[in-house]
Amino acid sequence: MGFPMASVTPHVRKHLSADALFRVVRSGFAAIPDPRCADVDISLTDTLMSAFAMFSLKAPSLLAFDRERTEGNLHTIYGIQRAPCDTYMRERLDPLSPKWLRPVFKRVFRQLQRGKALEEMVFLAGHYLLALDGTGYFSSKTVHCASCLHHVHRNGTITYTHQMLGAALIHPDVRAVIPLMPEPIGQDDGTDKNDCERNATKRFIVKLRQDHPHLKFIVTEDSLSSNAPHIATLHAHGLHYILGVKEGDHAFLFQQIQTAERAGRVTAYERHDRAAGLVHRFRFVNDVALNASNADVRVNFLEYWEISDTKVQHFSWVTDLRVSTRNVFHLMRGGRARWKIENETFNTLKNQGYNFEHNYGHGEQHLSVVFAMLMMLAFLVDQAQQLCCALFQAVWAKLGSKRLLWERMRALFYDYALVSMRELFEALLYGFKKSSPILTVDSS
Ligand SMILES: [Zn+2]
Repeated sequence: MGFPMASVTPHVRKHLSADALFRVVRSGFAAIPDPRCADVDISLTDTLMSAFAMFSLKAPSLLAFDRERTEGNLHTIYGIQRAPCDTYMRERLDPLSPKWLRPVFKRVFRQLQRGKALEEMVFLAGHYLLALDGTGYFSSKTVHCASCLHHVHRNGTITYTHQMLGAALIHPDVRAVIPLMPEPIGQDDGTDKNDCERNATKRFIVKLRQDHPHLKFIVTEDSLSSNAPHIATLHAHGLHYILGVKEGDHAFLFQQIQTAERAGRVTAYERHDRAAGLVHRFRFVNDVALNASNADVRVNFLEYWEISDTKVQHFSWVTDLRVSTRNVFHLMRGGRARWKIENETFNTLKNQGYNFEHNYGHGEQHLSVVFAMLMMLAFLVDQAQQLCCALFQAVWAKLGSKRLLWERMRALFYDYALVSMRELFEALLYGFKKSSPILTVDSS
C-alpha cells in the first residue's frame, strides 16, 4: 500500500516548469509601461496575462474565455489579480505596440538558457539551427485594421491579410521547437509577397543580433532566400546558413555544377541504410558562384537524393559551411529539418488546438498582431514543457494527443480549485482520488 505511484515519478525541473515560466512571462509583462496606470482598476499586466492565459488554455474564443473566467485559478496559476471582460481586453491591447512583447520572449529564452534546456538543441559545433519562414494567419474581404496588408484585386476589391515571419530553433532529432518573437509583416514592406517577407527578414535579423549578440546560429530557409543580397545580410550579422536552391530559380548555379562534374571537381558520396531500406546519395562542390551577376558571392553546393524501393526524394542547398564527406550527412539533416517551422510550428498552431487562424478580435490598430504574438508566446512556454518537463511528457504520452491534453486541461481548470499547473498535470496523470506522489525536484 502507501504510495503506489512513487516508482514512476516524472522528473520536474523547477525553474523550467510551467509555473516558473508563467512567473517569468508575468514579470515581463509587468515591465511594459502602462499608459493608463493611474486611472484603471485592471492593470495592463493583468490584461496581458489574461490574454496569455486564454492562449495557454487554448480557449476556443475570447467569448468562451470570458464566459468561463473563474478568477480563482486564473489568480493561483497565472497570477492574475483581476481578469478583464472581453471588451476591456480588446480596448486595452489594441493600442499596444507589439514591440513591447519582444523582451518577454527574450526573458523566457534566457530562462531556458540558464536551465541548460537548449543544450540538446545545439546542432553543430555550438551552433543552433534557426529556421525562418513566412506565414499568413488572417484574411478577410471586410474586416481590417491599420496593420493589415492590402491586396487590391483587378476588379477593385481588396483582400486584407496579416502575415508574419516566424522563427524557431529546431534540431533534426528533437520534436520540440523553440520559437523566437516573430516579425510582423507590415503594410510598408513592399508591393509583392516576396518583397514583404524579405524586408521583414532584414528587420528580424537586426533584432536577433540585438537580443542575442553572441549566440551562434546556422539559418535555414527555403529557396526564395537564396539570393546575393540576403546572403550578404546574413554574413554581415555573423550568421551561417543552409538555404534551399532550385534548378528552376538558380540555373547558373546548376550549370556550374554540371561543368564542375565534367571537370571532375564534384565529390560523390553514398551511404546505405539497410535497416530503413534507404540509399542516401550526395554530390557536392565547394566554392562556386551563386549566380552570374554576383560572381563574388561564393557558396558551397550540396545535392541529395533519398532513394527507397518506392520513391526518390531530391533536395539541394547552398551553405557557407565547407562540405566534406565527414559532415555532408549532418548538413543534409539540418537542411531537411527546415520543414519543422512549417509542420511543428505553423501547422501545430493552426491544427493542434491553438486556433492560429481563428479571429479572437481584430481591433483597429495592433490587436490582431498582439494576439498572434501572445499565442506564439504561449506556444513557446508549451514547447519548453515538451522539451524539458517529464511531467508534461508523461501526461501527453498518457492522453495520446495534444488536443485531448488541452481539452482535459481546460476541464480541470474550470472545475477544480488548483494551486499550480503542476497540480493540474499531476491530476491528469494520476487522477485526483489517488494520493499525490512526491516528485523529485532538482535545482536546474
Ligand atoms: Zn488587420
